[in-house]
Amino acid sequence: MKYNIALLRGDGIGPEIVDSAVRVLKAAGEKFGHEFCFTPYLIGGAAIDETGFPLPQETVDGCLASDSVLLGAVGGPRWDNLPGDRRPEKALLGIRSALGLFTNLRPARLYPALKDACPLREEVAAQGFDIMIVRELTGGIYFGDRGYRQGKFGLEAYDTECYSPMEIERIARVAFETARKRRGKVASIDKANVLETSRLWRKTVHQVAEGYPDVEIRDVLVDNAAMQLVKDPSQFDVIVTSNMFGDILSDEASQITGSIGMLPSASLNETTRGMYEPIHGSAPDIAGKGIANPIATILSAAMMLRYSFSLAEEADSIENAVDRALNEGLRTGDIAPKGAPTLSTAEMTDEIIRRL
Ligand code: NAD
Repeated sequence: MKYNIALLRGDGIGPEIVDSAVRVLKAAGEKFGHEFCFTPYLIGGAAIDETGFPLPQETVDGCLASDSVLLGAVGGPRWDNLPGDRRPEKALLGIRSALGLFTNLRPARLYPALKDACPLREEVAAQGFDIMIVRELTGGIYFGDRGYRQGKFGLEAYDTECYSPMEIERIARVAFETARKRRGKVASIDKANVLETSRLWRKTVHQVAEGYPDVEIRDVLVDNAAMQLVKDPSQFDVIVTSNMFGDILSDEASQITGSIGMLPSASLNETTRGMYEPIHGSAPDIAGKGIANPIATILSAAMMLRYSFSLAEEADSIENAVDRALNEGLRTGDIAPKGAPTLSTAEMTDEIIRRL
């Protein structure tokens, strides 16, 4: 089979890690007899430098014409002083919106080989955890009405959180379907004791739950969820939550896995054309040094094979190769114990390819 993949390398370490994932995809393609064709498009700071805009129309059109999209990361200090709507990060919201990517899947798993990197107490880390965070991605406060107005204390800024039952219903369905293929438990996170949108969220999630009697559902307030994630993460299977709560909780979940350089993500819509990216940013502090951990992006490519192309065996092969490399003690700098030998981005990529 032939698959067309749009590459959005972006800024900082983006180009380095995307190129690693491309090498792994090409190797997997050779092994399993698929042809992966890659077309690069500009996004973020790189697009601003070349065109003046963080998300050129050509990039949107290219992504819409592709079978799937692989993104590195955008942003960096060089573009930090631009106005909000001209910043590289604006391109992320734009491309998610243009592709209708309302679901963000973020697995947060503690690899047995990396238990020592987990910042939690030893007995908590020993239990391990494997959580799938299902975050709503195109609604809520990040997309609501915003601006400045005169308030009680003079000029004030405001942002608005809005959710419709349809938006909540479709993300809840993704969560219940996902739980069915895992351990059958959904924790719905909200702030229903304060927010009206959260009360609608809770009511709608429970209506959807009626269609999934085999899945256990429970509600957790977001402040409690933040605590429970560090107290006993093993209690969670699937977490479903709104755009902003998901943004924050998934970063917390990533931190307790030991390294942000390990975690992939998939952003999906009703079609099979998803967008796949590591959850970390462009890491300007290590950009160009060839030391970034490519695993999050390589695992994102594996998610692409699984969710967009239904190539489960091929995805397993990549994930197993990563497991094997880690189990054999291979480490990039971010996941290596102090003083231990480390591999460069290219070397880690070679080792993973060798184990496919
Ligand atoms: P970051 O994730 O880029 O970096 C945080 C820390 O983690 C840094 O010390 C970095 O060196 C390290 N790190 C991240 N990825 C790594 C990897 N693969 N291997 C080894 N170490 C890694 O977050 P930040 O520093 O807050 O943000 C930097 C820039 O990235 C900002 O401009 C921010 O807006 C942008 N950003 C982009 C995205 C995205 O494109 N999706 C997400 C978050 C942040």
